[in-house]
Amino acid sequence: MLLAGGECADCREHAGERVIIAMPQGGSGPGGPSRKACLPCARVRARSVFAPDWLREDLAVIDAERAT
Ligand SMILES: [Zn+2]
Repeated sequence: MLLAGGECADCREHAGERVIIAMPQGGSGPGGPSRKACLPCARVRARSVFAPDWLREDLAVIDAERAT
């Protein structure tokens, strides 16, 4: 899911569009703000073995929407 622009949590550059790259950890209740990054940073993270499956799926959905 694409989000509004703002500062990337990874490269600290202003991005015109961002995606959530990490959810706050810890059971119930709000655990803090989610981390949002620009698409290039999100793609780098998605290639990591530590990346959550939902991040890869999120990027795949964005790519599919762009392809149509
Ligand atoms: Zn970035």
